[in-house]
Amino acid sequence: MGEGMLDSFFGVVKKRFNGNNSDDNNREMVKCPRCQSLILLKKYEELHRVCPDCNYHGRLSSKERIDITFDEGSFQELNADMISCNPIDFPEYSEKQEQLRKSTGLNDAVVTGTAMIKGIKTVAGIMDSRYMMGSMGSVVGEKITRAFEYATENKLPVILFTASGGARMQEGIVSLMQMAKTSGAVKRHSDAGGLYITVLTDPTTGGVTASFASLGDIIIAEPKVLIGFAGRRVIESTIRQRLPEDFQLAEFMQEHGFVDMITDRKKMRSTLYHLLKIHGYGED
Ligand SMILES: [Zn+2]
Repeated sequence: MGEGMLDSFFGVVKKRFNGNNSDDNNREMVKCPRCQSLILLKKYEELHRVCPDCNYHGRLSSKERIDITFDEGSFQELNADMISCNPIDFPEYSEKQEQLRKSTGLNDAVVTGTAMIKGIKTVAGIMDSRYMMGSMGSVVGEKITRAFEYATENKLPVILFTASGGARMQEGIVSLMQMAKTSGAVKRHSDAGGLYITVLTDPTTGGVTASFASLGDIIIAEPKVLIGFAGRRVIESTIRQRLPEDFQLAEFMQEHGFVDMITDRKKMRSTLYHLLKIHGYGED
């Protein structure tokens, strides 16, 4: 009996003894969407979803993001109960939302609130790609606008983590209007002297890139994430040219001036803290 056969034999025996839970979970693999290497799910989770081979920063839920970024228990949600109607009567839109509310526990694709970073109070918004690809409809636009208005009124800095497929087509023109509305709120916040930091996470595209995501005073991106407006295939077939391999990755965007800095997830909290400090927040 070869070693491999012995292993698989004992695997079967173990399985019978332990039920199939623990061992199988340990062996579950994920494939990195950037370098295609296989990573043990358990290890990937331990690294907060960062690929150990190429440093691609994978997607987090809004809750996971809050947990690793802000002071424990400091997040106080604003406008939590806002849910969207179906402004253009898009078929099955209401049903789809109801399902998503159940499966994700979210009311829409962004969570906003106040939160502390090492004792400094901020207004935070975290988009969640699990909810209709983080697309922006009336609720996302309104919550972000209100978050800015709250921050302006209370002289707080704003930190937004973006993750979005763009404007939500199921709300048609109403979605596109959110681009102007959120941009207006950012401008008023800026005119009042408020700081606004954006953190672009995977993926940040479409109408979100074309509005508030690109308007930060400081624009941070996580490594290897996708940032763009239209998708690669759409552009390639429009201009009939091949685009460079790293097109729309964070590093490419930094080289071309769209992104100010690229920050590893494990350093994000302390980087944000330092940026807040040097802009005079946290001093009484
Ligand atoms: Zn990778």
